[in-house]
Amino acid sequence: MKLILLGAPGAGKGTVAKILTAIDGSVQISTGDILRGAVQAGTELGKEAKSYMNRGDLVPDSLIMGIMEKRLQEDDCKKGFLLDGFPRTILQAEELKVLLAKLDITLDMAVNIDVPRDVILDRLCTRRTCENSKCQAIYNVKSNPPKQEGICDKCGSAAIQREDETEEAILHRLQTYNDKTAPLIGFYEKEGLVKTVSGTSSDIVVLELKEALGF
Ligand code: AMP
Repeated sequence: MKLILLGAPGAGKGTVAKILTAIDGSVQISTGDILRGAVQAGTELGKEAKSYMNRGDLVPDSLIMGIMEKRLQEDDCKKGFLLDGFPRTILQAEELKVLLAKLDITLDMAVNIDVPRDVILDRLCTRRTCENSKCQAIYNVKSNPPKQEGICDKCGSAAIQREDETEEAILHRLQTYNDKTAPLIGFYEKEGLVKTVSGTSSDIVVLELKEALGF
């Protein structure tokens, strides 16, 4: 499958992507994960991205497009991909359209995961993420805690609260989503690609998507 996952931070894009990739071998491409990996590794990209990310601002479009142009041409994308957290601006969506046409790739769907704001706020404040950049498993202290507090079940690294998941940064990220990313729903509606799924449970979102995609 070749999907774009739209939805506010905390809507469950990452969780849904991880479940869907297991179905047909598509790969999850999360620009947030890539950037956090770069910050942890201390690369030039990471150094440039870090302050934007910690404030809850978007990283400049040119940096993101550079990453994605390379990433989409890697071999593991041939079976399909789920874009998680990209595109995030109209400019990124326009440039992605040109890039996909150049690579002769057709998208199946742009999924809009619609979750009420109070649920999102609660989720983000209680979310924990594995700090190992190769793992980045997601937990929730209320609904899906790691077996041992603060330790990732999958790789044993620390499961931590992200630096951009302070209340101030969360509110700013949600505002940024409304201003810059929500307009993409209209962009992909015009392309006839939008499927909106409302659900406070990622399992229900996955069920609906499987049906819509014929799996
Ligand atoms: P996420 O894990 O998707 O919430 O992303 C974490 C942070 O990485 C965001 O708040 C942005 O600072 C940055 N980021 C991730 N994806 C993008 C993107 N497509 N465009 C710009 N910034 C991004």
